Amino acid sequence: MDYPFANTLAKPDSRLIFKNKLPHIDAAMPEFFRVMAIANQSISQRNMFGNPQGIRHDLGVDTALKLLLVACYQDRLLHGKHSPLAVAEVLRKLVLQWYALGHSLQSCLFFGYYFYALQSQALYVLKDISQQISLLVDPEQALTQDPQVQSLLAPTHSNRWYTSSHGVGDKLFAILIQPQDATRTDLPRPGYHIHFKKSWAFDLRAPLFLPLAEVEEPLIQNNKIITSCPRCAQKCRGTAFDHLEITCPACQQHWKQWT
Ligand SMILES: [Zn+2]
Repeated sequence: MDYPFANTLAKPDSRLIFKNKLPHIDAAMPEFFRVMAIANQSISQRNMFGNPQGIRHDLGVDTALKLLLVACYQDRLLHGKHSPLAVAEVLRKLVLQWYALGHSLQSCLFFGYYFYALQSQALYVLKDISQQISLLVDPEQALTQDPQVQSLLAPTHSNRWYTSSHGVGDKLFAILIQPQDATRTDLPRPGYHIHFKKSWAFDLRAPLFLPLAEVEEPLIQNNKIITSCPRCAQKCRGTAFDHLEITCPACQQHWKQWT
């Protein structure tokens, strides 16, 4: 299977940024990747319904995750007040960049399985680990402002999404989540829970959760579509072809969108 994130290129100097700016994470990541690759073998044995079997807790994933989390605090990527979801998002970006340095795809697939498909379980584990190590952490510690670290952890998706018959798409990044790979959620957190449970094509560039405020439902009527520009919010009109390329008349922003 092709995984859409698999062609992710390493950022310039990311090897050195890990080594020099995130030394604790650099030391913890190899073990995290090692145990995730083994765990992925255990889940790729499918049950009689063709679904992956559960996670075996004797494989050391939770222990390696705990050490990585401690490393994230030591390297000042996290402080004690981050929500489990925010912690998971930092881990997701780190894993993607570590993979881009030539590390195992299998490890990423396990990360995807655990953090997207089993999201509530993974977030619970993160919350639990955070509590266990909270005594080691200054809840108010200042986060690193290092520009190289910021660029390493730059967003892998935008906050300008749209709905379509092909799924939920990102207007500014080439990410499309198939309809049955995300579930619309209601209060207390309206949005889309992204789980990839239909295709299992985990895309580590996609957020774990998409707030509803970041997703536009374009207006389609009489074969015309009205959708807003992701940069300046200008309403743009066009013929509702299956796949559109739009240029905003106000700011010239160009983007592609499915209907
Ligand atoms: Zn515009």
